[in-house]
Amino acid sequence: MPKTKKVGPTRGLGVRYGSTVRKRYIKVITELRKPHKCPNCGFVRVHRESVGVWKCHKCNFTFTGGAYTPATKLGIVARRAAKGLVPEEVTKEAAKAASVEPASEEETE
Ligand SMILES: [Zn+2]
Repeated sequence: MPKTKKVGPTRGLGVRYGSTVRKRYIKVITELRKPHKCPNCGFVRVHRESVGVWKCHKCNFTFTGGAYTPATKLGIVARRAAKGLVPEEVTKEAAKAASVEPASEEETE
């Protein structure tokens, strides 16, 4: 009777590093291994070429992104900032920091 061997992203790791780390590793690895949507042609054919480098196998569009996902929240903000557009959240935060007066004062009679 053949012994069933569990295979998954953590094969090779064995029982090392602890279950919490292995679970986290599985989450990251499955995320980077699944195909992602191409920002150029819209097809879900983007695969990771290298750390932070993503390539679409449909239109050969190569772009940089996060190490484990093609788009990171920080990357989107950075791209907008590079275009000269200030992200809304940042503007709000700056406005909040700039105003010394309390924003909402009840003025009911
Ligand atoms: Zn593409």
